[in-house]
Amino acid sequence: MATKVVMLGTGNPRPEPARSGPATAIVVNDTPYLVDFGPGVIRRVAAAYEKGVAALGYGGVNIKTVLLTHLHSDHTAGYPDLIFTPWVMGRKAPLAVYGPKGIKAMTEHVLKAWQVDIEARTTGLNQHNRTGWQVNAHEIVPGVVYRDGNVTITAFPARHEEMVDSFSYRFESADRIVVISGDTAPTQALIDHSRGCDVLIHEAYSMMACRSGARPSPEFRRRHHTSSAELAEIANQVRPGLLVTYHRSSAGEETATPEHDVLIEEIRRDYKGRVVAANDLDIF
Ligand SMILES: [Zn+2]
Ligand SMILES: [Zn+2]
Repeated sequence: MATKVVMLGTGNPRPEPARSGPATAIVVNDTPYLVDFGPGVIRRVAAAYEKGVAALGYGGVNIKTVLLTHLHSDHTAGYPDLIFTPWVMGRKAPLAVYGPKGIKAMTEHVLKAWQVDIEARTTGLNQHNRTGWQVNAHEIVPGVVYRDGNVTITAFPARHEEMVDSFSYRFESADRIVVISGDTAPTQALIDHSRGCDVLIHEAYSMMACRSGARPSPEFRRRHHTSSAELAEIANQVRPGLLVTYHRSSAGEETATPEHDVLIEEIRRDYKGRVVAANDLDIF
């Protein structure tokens, strides 16, 4: 398969050791495109590399094109790691990052915060290159945001309450169409952009977790996220070749009980297509 999906982080804000923060690599003809950079991103990239995903490069040195869904910290806390670790491992090209309004300011602040490190590594004894720490940040609007010989990437609006500038992404390559929801409540735009796609990677929370009274509140979930029942309804309209759940929300911050089987069972009640709950380092 020329196009592969590598799940680098399938978690949410809760720091579950087995789940890194949201990060997904779409690899097309051995070129990686990264969506989101939650905490732990480059450690998971290194693990995927060791598992055989050579396209990422050692320490992520081959990751040069990055898309961000929204500015929540669980999706961005790996930003300095993404910028500096591959540079220190030898990346020479500046990163190109596409994302919502605010990504330019975040980039400037991160680079400023690590200025002492940049100066030390470019002027000291152990000299690193002077380009690989640089970032070209692009603030995007819905539409085609990136295109090259491998892939066309289209951004469309997600609905994530106060994070008004939030995006979902559609990747179209020669052999596959992959859509990734980011964090979102149900939207017609997602259905329109993913109808008949090969892989739909979608966030979801379990109705059982919602009923259990665990935080966040049902009202918060309803305005920010997508329930298992809503996702089943979406999948029935989209008919993806494969539905993959990620950023799964379980019984709340207080418990680490895995319940993705409950989530999948809930989805299967109303949706009869192929569906899997992603774990870190799964490849689809
Ligand atoms: Zn999130
Ligand atoms: Zn979010």
